[in-house]
Amino acid sequence: MRILIVEDEPKIAKSIKKGLEQEAFSVDIAENGTLGHDLASSETFDLIILDLMLPEMDGLEICRQLRKNGISTPILMLTAKSELDDKVLGLNTGADDYLVKPFAFEELLARIKALLRRPEKSLDATLECSNLKIDTISYKVTRDNTPILLSRREFALLEYLVRNKNRTLSKESITAHVWDYDSEILPNTVEQYMGYLRNKVDKKFSNFKPLIKTIRGFGYMISDDNV
Ligand code: CA
Repeated sequence: MRILIVEDEPKIAKSIKKGLEQEAFSVDIAENGTLGHDLASSETFDLIILDLMLPEMDGLEICRQLRKNGISTPILMLTAKSELDDKVLGLNTGADDYLVKPFAFEELLARIKALLRRPEKSLDATLECSNLKIDTISYKVTRDNTPILLSRREFALLEYLVRNKNRTLSKESITAHVWDYDSEILPNTVEQYMGYLRNKVDKKFSNFKPLIKTIRGFGYMISDDNV
């Protein structure tokens, strides 16, 4: 899952990014309002963490603009204590939740996971594809009840595939949801990671039908409809 942080205090932005990356999220930072608005409008994110007070364009204005343009990505607004009155305003302009600074990282993480699980996004805590199970809270992955150890990036990739199971996903869409803007992506990076996943998820479980398919010329699909 890919998250945009719009925050002008570099220390805060960097520490959130670091924490979220350890939780297998891909994270981009925009350090001012204009950049945040432009990135949120042009790139694909699963959630936006939006500071209220920002240079160039403030959080409320960004929120208003994005919603006006039909962008429904969940927004978690960050506000300072002194700006608390604005929280109501924030929610009225289309933010989904708010958090008062300073906050504990665990609190932020809990809010993010709650927003990503909202029913209208149909995001469940446990994802399944045939006998493959992913617990997105504990990050445990099993197939036929046997644990599978994945790197953070492999986990993010598998999670994205299973959330969209039985649908063909293009390389572009996979890249947009699993890698951040600054990542070094080579033309074969997605193939390479698909290879790692196939080894761990399918080849090691050769007594079951493979779940990951290559759809030639289109992309990839994880599927439980051929079992
Ligand atoms: Ca600020």
